[in-house]
Amino acid sequence: MNSAVLAAIGDELLSGARLEKNCNFMARHFHNKGWNLQRIEIISDEEQEILNLLSRWVGHTDLLIISGGLGPTHDDKTRNAIAKFLNCGLSCANELYDKILERVKDDPKRYAYTESVRDPQAMIPELARPVFNPTGFALGIKFQKDNTTVIALPGVPLEYESMTRQELPEIFSSDNKDYAWTSIIILDVPELTIAKKIPEVINNQALHVSILPAFPQVELIIRGRPEEVNEAEKMIRSRFPDALPEGCRSIAEAVLFEAEMKGLKISCAESCTGGLLGATLTEIPGSSEVFNGSAVTYSNEAKKNILGVSEDTLKNFGAVSEECALEMSKGSLKVYGTDFAVSTTGIAGPDGGSKAKPVGLVCFCVASEKNFKTFKRIFPGGRQEIRTRAVRFALSELWKEIHNL
Ligand code: ATP
Ligand code: MG
Repeated sequence: MNSAVLAAIGDELLSGARLEKNCNFMARHFHNKGWNLQRIEIISDEEQEILNLLSRWVGHTDLLIISGGLGPTHDDKTRNAIAKFLNCGLSCANELYDKILERVKDDPKRYAYTESVRDPQAMIPELARPVFNPTGFALGIKFQKDNTTVIALPGVPLEYESMTRQELPEIFSSDNKDYAWTSIIILDVPELTIAKKIPEVINNQALHVSILPAFPQVELIIRGRPEEVNEAEKMIRSRFPDALPEGCRSIAEAVLFEAEMKGLKISCAESCTGGLLGATLTEIPGSSEVFNGSAVTYSNEAKKNILGVSEDTLKNFGAVSEECALEMSKGSLKVYGTDFAVSTTGIAGPDGGSKAKPVGLVCFCVASEKNFKTFKRIFPGGRQEIRTRAVRFALSELWKEIHNL
């Protein structure tokens, strides 16, 4: 099994000002390929830290990928640290940098800037080789020492991703002869109940099983030899016939998949989720086949004027009520001419809660021409968590209605 270590350099990652993305991206791909990812490290923009990182891992892993610290500013220390580590000077990779300049030849301002940062962006330690950057301007650095391949790449996530794909095509290819993984999503069953129902899978030493809860779903990720993963998936699906369909990695995907299979159109009406429901559905390519639109009606006026919610309902029950949620989804069916609509209206906080209607209270309705179901839930957490949970809940109830049709 091949081994790897991933490292990200950046004070902004250590301080929490930015969420680390690159190692996470690469980790998923290593895992899918069955590589042994030994460690992920986040270190500061200090030359000594980078030198320590190189000393720790060169000779102790097959592949070390370093993200960040290759830009032109004071905090970019990776190239000098590598030169020090290899005990060599730097030289300019002019030919490769000229190719990058080609890309901006029609934009004089960018051309002049990119030319002005040739040093340091094209400076490569003499005992390493440059790595072309297809989406940005700083070159990467690659070298081998003591059986370890080291690849240092810019930290901008788009550049990191395009350069890892370019340098490590074998990690991204989809042919998996000895190793496979699958994901199965089950709704409304607690994780321990799931685990207890599939002891053969959990106790199978040849499989690696992750159980990942995210209300109201639990995702099971099973990894191992293809035949055994296949076998386990069949067994799990036979015990949980209401799991999301094969290949669906999220509830939104399942909604779109089943609606398309059944020739149905869907729409939303959103208050507290402010468009997140529509955004979650439209993140998925091909959603236009099924999804007609989402009305973001934040104010009472918008609820009345756009969705036809009645003044009486708002006066008697308030905007955060199952009655209002019902009228919102009925309005959405009409406005968008759809078969199913789901609505959300709630109090995401931190203010606006009361004893009767606390922060976290969200009302929902899933409606079709003939039927409707309303729901009322109180979600824990802050504003973002409440909104995210509301989206997952709304989609899961919508999925169940379409699935059971
Ligand atoms: P380069 O300029 O060669 O890309 P660098 O990655 O260190 O070097 P920075 O200016 O520090 O350049 O970062 C550029 C942008 O990329 C910043 O917005 C930074 O927060 C982001 N970034 C850097 N590393 C990561 C990472 N591991 N995950 C997510 N974002 C990152
Ligand atoms: Mg940086």
